Amino acid sequence: MSGRLSSLRARLAKIDAKLIDVARQELLANCNCKFGGLTFAHDPEKFEAEMNTPCPVHGFRDLGSVRHVVIVGKHGEPIDTTSNSRLGQLIKDYEIRRARCQDDLRVLELKDDLEES
Ligand SMILES: [Zn+2]
Repeated sequence: MSGRLSSLRARLAKIDAKLIDVARQELLANCNCKFGGLTFAHDPEKFEAEMNTPCPVHGFRDLGSVRHVVIVGKHGEPIDTTSNSRLGQLIKDYEIRRARCQDDLRVLELKDDLEES
């Protein structure tokens, strides 16, 4: 009887793990992050809207590596310096928020590791 019970528990644990995996996959399908990707930013308003769009899975949306695109004139001079400085500040703000979120994730992973051991 106890052999059948432990076999049943093992099967339930497998089913439980599979259900968690399926739920995780469904959740990740909604992720809009760009982990390891690139975001080219040239318009402050568009970038601000993009950086403030949350990820339905992770909360904070990872935009990958952000490149500040500066549009220049014939002689290499930046055309819109006001937009460029505003965009530069937005990118700095985004990078600070991203670093904080990565620190928070490391703390959560550390807590998980401690709870499992
Ligand atoms: Zn995400």
